[in-house]
Amino acid sequence: MERRIEFNTSWQYSPAPESTDHIVLSKRYDNFIGGAFVPPASGKYFDTINPATEEKLSEVALSDEADVNRAVESAREAFNRYWSKCLPAERGKYLYRIARLIQERAREFAVIESLDGGKPIRESRTVDIPLVAAHFFYYAGWADKLEYAFPNRRVSPLGVAGQIIPWNFPLLMAAWKIAPALACGNTVVLKPAETTPLTALKLAELIQEADLPPGVVNIITGAGETGQALVRHPDVDKIAFTGSTEVGRIIQKELAGTNKKYTLELGGKAANIIFEDAALDQAVEGIINGIFFNQGHVCCAGSRLFVQESVADTVIRKLKDRMESLIVGNPLDKNTDIGAINSRQQLDTINSYIEIGQKEGAELYQTSCPLPERGYWCRPTLFLNASQSHRIVQEEIFGPVLAVQTFRTAEEAIEKANNTPYGLSGGVWSDKGAKVFKITSKIRSGVVWANTYNKFDPTAPFGGYKESGVGREGGLHGLLPYVNLA
Ligand code: NAP
Ligand code: MG
Repeated sequence: MERRIEFNTSWQYSPAPESTDHIVLSKRYDNFIGGAFVPPASGKYFDTINPATEEKLSEVALSDEADVNRAVESAREAFNRYWSKCLPAERGKYLYRIARLIQERAREFAVIESLDGGKPIRESRTVDIPLVAAHFFYYAGWADKLEYAFPNRRVSPLGVAGQIIPWNFPLLMAAWKIAPALACGNTVVLKPAETTPLTALKLAELIQEADLPPGVVNIITGAGETGQALVRHPDVDKIAFTGSTEVGRIIQKELAGTNKKYTLELGGKAANIIFEDAALDQAVEGIINGIFFNQGHVCCAGSRLFVQESVADTVIRKLKDRMESLIVGNPLDKNTDIGAINSRQQLDTINSYIEIGQKEGAELYQTSCPLPERGYWCRPTLFLNASQSHRIVQEEIFGPVLAVQTFRTAEEAIEKANNTPYGLSGGVWSDKGAKVFKITSKIRSGVVWANTYNKFDPTAPFGGYKESGVGREGGLHGLLPYVNLA
C-alpha cells in the first residue's frame, strides 16, 4: 500500500533572503567599447527593472547602428592589433583570470542575476554562476591546444564575432559565447537581452579588471534593432545567436548569401518520458526540475510529459503533491523554488497559453500557493489529458506550464515525442539500461537525459535538431564555429 503524504499548507518556512548589501549597481550603464564605458551615440537609455518588484534597478544604453559600428570597429582593431597575434597560451591566461575573478565575485553576480532576471537565488548561485566560471576554465584550457582539437589542420580565428543572447540565462549565455570565441583568437561584440543586461555589464567591469586588451570584448545593450544592426554589419565574420526560433529564422534570412558563419540555438519543446519501471519518486523530481526550474524559462525545459498508462495515476498524484510544496516568490529568498517571470510581456504570453490550453479542452491544474502582490508571477501549472494537436503541446510556452499525455508502448512514446517541429532535448526515465539506450537513440534531439534532467557541463556539446537550431556550442564541438580550418 502506498503511503500518501499530506502537506500542511499552513506551515511555512521563515523568510531567508540573501543580502543585497554587497551589491554595487550604478544608476546608469554605458556601452563597453574598446575597454572603456562610452555613452550611446543617441544619448538614449532605457530602464532595466526587477521583475519581482517592478522597481527600476538601473538604466542602460539604447544602442543604434552608430554604436554597433563603433563596437565592431573596436573589435576589428583589437583583432588585428593584438588578439590574433597574441600567443595562444596568453589568451588562455586571460580566460583563466576571468574565470577566477568570476569565482571570487560569484555571490555578487548571483544576486544581480536574480535581481535583474527573477530567477531564484538558489539557482543563480548553484547553477548559473558556477557554470559560467566552468565555461571560462574549460575554454581557457583549449586556447593553446587547438592543434589537438583539429589534428593535422591549420587552425586560424575567424575575426570578429557578433553574439546575441536571450534573457533566461543571461551571464551563462554570455560565457557560452565569449569563452570559445576568445579561446580561438576571435574578438567579440556581445548584445545581451533587453530585460537582463546587468550581469553582462558587470562582466564588462570584471573584464576591465582582468586587463584584457581593449576591444577584445565589447558589450553593447539595446533592443532587437541593435541585434539586427549587428547581424547586418558587413565587418562581422560570425553571428552566434541564442533566442527564439522566430528571430533565428529572421537572422538566417539576413545571413543567406553572405560569407558570415553562424550558429543558432533556438527554441524547444522537450518530451520527458516516464516508463512504468522507472524509480517514480526520482522521476517526479526530474519532472519538477525539468519544467519548473528557472520558471520554465529554459529552452530545453521538459514541457511535455509522457507517462506510461499503467503508472499515470500514481505519477500524476505524486506530481501534484510535490507541486503543492513548491514555493513561488521572492527570488532572493533561499527557500524559493520558483521566482518571478522575467517580464510582463512573457507573463502575458504564458497566461495566453493557459487560456488556450483550457479552450482546447485540456484539464487545468494549478497549485494554491500564495503569490506576492507586485511583480510577475505564475503558479506551477499542469494540463492533464492534453493531446498531440493542442497548441500547448506543439508550441514553446517558455513558462512553468506542463502538458501531460500518456502512452502504452515505447514506440508510441517515441513517435509522440518526435512529433514536434523542435528537437533540442528530452528525458527518459526507466530502470532498464537497454530500454534507455534504445529510446535515447531514437529521440531526435540534441540532448537526451536519462534518469536525470537539466544537467549541463562545459565539456558536453549542446544544440538542436530541426527548428531548434544550427550548430553546437560547448565541448570540443563548440570550438568549430569559431575557427577556419585549412
Ligand atoms: P528572442 O526574442 O529571440 O531574443 C533573443 C535575442 O535576440 C535578444 O537579445 C533580442 O533582443 C535579440 N533580437 C530580437 N530581435 C532581433 C533581430 N531581428 N535581430 C537580431 N537580434 C534580435 O528570444 P528571447 O525571448 O530573449 O529568449 C527566449 C527564447 O530563447 C526561447 O525561444 C528559448 O527557447 C530560446 N533559447 C534557446 C537556447 C538554446 O540554447 N537553444 C537557450 C536559451 C534560450 P531583445 O531582448 O532586445 O528583444
Ligand atoms: Mg530586468
